[in-house]
Amino acid sequence: MSQVYFDHNSTTALKTEVLEAMLPFLANQHGNATSRHSFGRAARAAVEHAREQVASAVGAYATQIVFTASGTEANNFAVHGICSNLDKGQILTSAIEHPCVSRPALALQARGWKAHSIKVDANCNINMAHLEKLLITPTNLVSVMLANNETGVIQDIAKVAELAREHKAYVHTDAVQALGKIPVDFFALNVHAMTISSHKIGGPLGAGALVLDKRIDIQPLLYGGGQEKGLRSGTENVAAIVGFGVACELAVKYLTAFDMHTENLRKHLETGLSKLNAVIFGQNGLRIPNTTFFAFPNMDGETLVTALDKKGFAVASGSACSSDSDKPSHVLLAMGVEEDLARGAVRVSFSASNTIEQVHHFLTAIESELKRLKNLTAVAA
Ligand code: PLP
Repeated sequence: MSQVYFDHNSTTALKTEVLEAMLPFLANQHGNATSRHSFGRAARAAVEHAREQVASAVGAYATQIVFTASGTEANNFAVHGICSNLDKGQILTSAIEHPCVSRPALALQARGWKAHSIKVDANCNINMAHLEKLLITPTNLVSVMLANNETGVIQDIAKVAELAREHKAYVHTDAVQALGKIPVDFFALNVHAMTISSHKIGGPLGAGALVLDKRIDIQPLLYGGGQEKGLRSGTENVAAIVGFGVACELAVKYLTAFDMHTENLRKHLETGLSKLNAVIFGQNGLRIPNTTFFAFPNMDGETLVTALDKKGFAVASGSACSSDSDKPSHVLLAMGVEEDLARGAVRVSFSASNTIEQVHHFLTAIESELKRLKNLTAVAA
């Protein structure tokens, strides 16, 4: 039985064109991009070409891209790097951020900063009134994600940025789950810094980037050889960066096709899930097209995910994005979902490679697993 992969918000398969572009740099083109000889110059040229490709995918200039090893690193870099040049003050992160944004803020809190979380409503949208209230206290940094990894809900970042800038705060957005799924334009979002990651868009693991407003004063996380204009020391991972560049180009090229295809799959999925009485989270919010986050009352999410895996479907449970995997999703709790229902959460995230047939088979599998698991519970009771 071949496995069907419905977990593309976790990571994606490497695209063929990406692998082809990377292979020479994993084989005989092994130059260090800081070396002056021909091998080094070839590596440097490849990195700079990739920088152009990444910048162009997000409507930025190549000089604004700082390559990192992951989205996690870029988020940590944004929070620590921006704050370390400022006097201790307030940091605001939304209640639904990925831990690689909220935890750096908490780490700063332990060093005397004040970290507060911005509330969201039942649809997973930022509570702008709460943000405005929090901004009355002088604030250094506001960080709100563009698209949530669990619900897929998209935030009005330009509005967040407008409010933050009115209060002289810096603004960062984590766009890791938005790139390749919706148009992402750094200037339109009006932020000072934005995070993206390669392996979420058909690129390799080991590459990410922070897109920066050049006027921002930011401190590096890593010191050493002074790569990336001193902002991110460490020998460049040339193959991964090259792959990231190609993946960015492809993500933009196929954005409309991805959007139409995955939205159609999601429509079928959600129609089927609703017939089975699932609760679909964030359904009334504006969402990236490929993501459905749902639960069945009185059905444990981990149990359902394991049962579906045995039936050949790879999906995520609500707690899959966190190492605290016994806890219900902090995103759902922030939306006011009851803990019991939140424990049932399951996420499906599609890519262009998924098909309608897979969705129909999945719905059939869910229906039979629900019956089987409910019978088991009834027997055990
Ligand atoms: N931000 C969001 C919204 C994510 O979903 C993830 C990964 O799941 C990350 C950041 C971390 O990115 P990376 O896996 O590249 O470290």
